[in-house]
Amino acid sequence: MKTINQPKFEVIEAEHYGMCFGVKAAIAKAQQMAERSPVTVLGELAHNQTVKHSMTQRGAVHGSLTDHRAGTKNVIITAHGAANKDREKWSALGHRVLDTTCPLVHKAHAALSSLVSKGYAPIVIGKSGHVEVRGLTGDFPKTQVVKSLAEVGTLNLKFDKIGIISQTTQQIDHVEGIVTEIRNRASQAEVKFIDTVCRPTKDRQRSLLNLCTKAEVIIVVGGKNSNNTAQLAIKCRALGCLAYHVQKPSDVQNRWFEGVSKVGLTAGTSTPDEDIKRIKNHLLSLIGM
Ligand code: SF4
Repeated sequence: MKTINQPKFEVIEAEHYGMCFGVKAAIAKAQQMAERSPVTVLGELAHNQTVKHSMTQRGAVHGSLTDHRAGTKNVIITAHGAANKDREKWSALGHRVLDTTCPLVHKAHAALSSLVSKGYAPIVIGKSGHVEVRGLTGDFPKTQVVKSLAEVGTLNLKFDKIGIISQTTQQIDHVEGIVTEIRNRASQAEVKFIDTVCRPTKDRQRSLLNLCTKAEVIIVVGGKNSNNTAQLAIKCRALGCLAYHVQKPSDVQNRWFEGVSKVGLTAGTSTPDEDIKRIKNHLLSLIGM
């Protein structure tokens, strides 16, 4: 039987990783409210079971932002934001709305609103089904959404003025590629792009590039249902690094570290610090620290 020696590696943490300030602040406000009175969270505060469990333990229930039915007076809009029409509808129905929308998502809403008010035909770069994008486009039904270069050909670009923003969590190089393609295809139009990819997302993308130059194997911590965590692992692999997406210490396999001297550690923006700490401690215990 093959024996695996105790691994010997150094753990290198990404400069920026894990939960962003926007989601942390939203969770803190939501937890405070849930401790005071019954609440319904309209969607997911973060795509993570630890976060969901902590709210359930405080008695919170989960509902949908757009079906406008909740069994509690208090309802919570998550950091991903909402269309004004939904926010107003909940208030009109007599609910007390705790709005935890991230200020940087508000900034994206303001950018889109300003483009529309100045007569630009609006385009959002992002995923059409994502809660943030539904919130952005909800008040401007003529907005077109595009998620890939390949989809640019399906857009209606026959306008004199085109205004573009992005979902806050998109890869900036991906966004810039799509903007260039739109400019090329709509050479008759004045194309205005407002960069709404948020600073924490950019910092995490830059840190990941840096981590990939240093580590041979990268452990990406986050919920299995977290798209941004899965995207981090995919990005690592595209950059030529071996990457493993893990949720809990038992997901980590010792054989990944055979002959490896540097292991990188990063996490998605929905991953709580406690989940990251558990994995970090597990990695350190493997090398006897
Ligand atoms: Fe705010 Fe960016 Fe975090 Fe979204 S990812 S909540 S925009 S800081």
